[in-house]
Amino acid sequence: MPKPPLKVLMAAPRGFCAGVVRAIDIVERALERYGKPVYVRHEIVHNKYVVDELKRKGAVFVEEIDEIPDGRRPVVFSAHGVPRTVPAAALRRNLFQIDATCPLVAKVHMEALRHHAEGSHIVLIGHNGHPEVIGTMGQLPEGAITLIETVADAEALAPRDPKRLAYVTQTTLSIDDTRDIVQTLRRRFPAIRGPYKEDICYATANRQEAVKAIAGRVDLLLVVGAPNSSNSKRLVEVGLSNGCRRAALVQTVRDIDWSMFRGVATLGLTAGASAPEILIEEIIKACSRRYQVSVEKITLREETVSFKLPRELREAKPAA
Ligand code: SF4
Repeated sequence: MPKPPLKVLMAAPRGFCAGVVRAIDIVERALERYGKPVYVRHEIVHNKYVVDELKRKGAVFVEEIDEIPDGRRPVVFSAHGVPRTVPAAALRRNLFQIDATCPLVAKVHMEALRHHAEGSHIVLIGHNGHPEVIGTMGQLPEGAITLIETVADAEALAPRDPKRLAYVTQTTLSIDDTRDIVQTLRRRFPAIRGPYKEDICYATANRQEAVKAIAGRVDLLLVVGAPNSSNSKRLVEVGLSNGCRRAALVQTVRDIDWSMFRGVATLGLTAGASAPEILIEEIIKACSRRYQVSVEKITLREETVSFKLPRELREAKPAA
């Protein structure tokens, strides 16, 4: 029996962003330089494949500093950023800390600190419970930041002084939803201050734009990413709200429910910023076993962003 045809539209940019590449490099360089184990607070990036690979190389993942049994080993903070209590706890234990917070998240921290120093109350647009939100809120004393998630929250906001208000956002939000929330804030509080350019990062924006470019042409969109990856979940939503009838988040090829492929002539494929390309390649291979696959790459733009490693790791030497 000849295999049925399947056209695959591969969105680009997709997959690893510069902040994720840097965070993974930091753990790998720390292992090279200081030997095993290197402790990492929280998943360095939200991807099980990446975390498992680093565990295999000697990284040990913990959720809190007090879980680290050996005070002589380095600890790396994840790309999502951490509240100030975390480096303070590491300092109390005299741990050697390496910060893998993405520079674009660190920039949001700086904005929040600046607005606070200028006397503004801060509105953070983000998702409750996400580590990046916990990290950003934890840059300032309790009560200095109000988290809002929706347009309804923006409508209900009742600040003490509407003239001294500023907003910042999580970096991995939906561009369209955030625009609606910001418009509501600006209508209700014309004096509100915000970032010169949106806090949503270039990688989140590019991956969403690339999905929009293919969403109307595909019968099914698969997004490779973890269920706790904010930017991956947003890609599913962006696909569905831009003309794609079905979209699903899969961590690996093993999560694919092949019954979803019934009636699918064109498949869209993309990956969140923490998902490695090998997971996309495995899906293409699995499709090729079932279908006569033809791949078309839809490249919206090339990405050239890269971030420097922390100074202590730039000249990594193997452990003695
Ligand atoms: S998604 Fe954006 S903010 Fe998050 S690590 Fe990547 S570049 Fe940095």
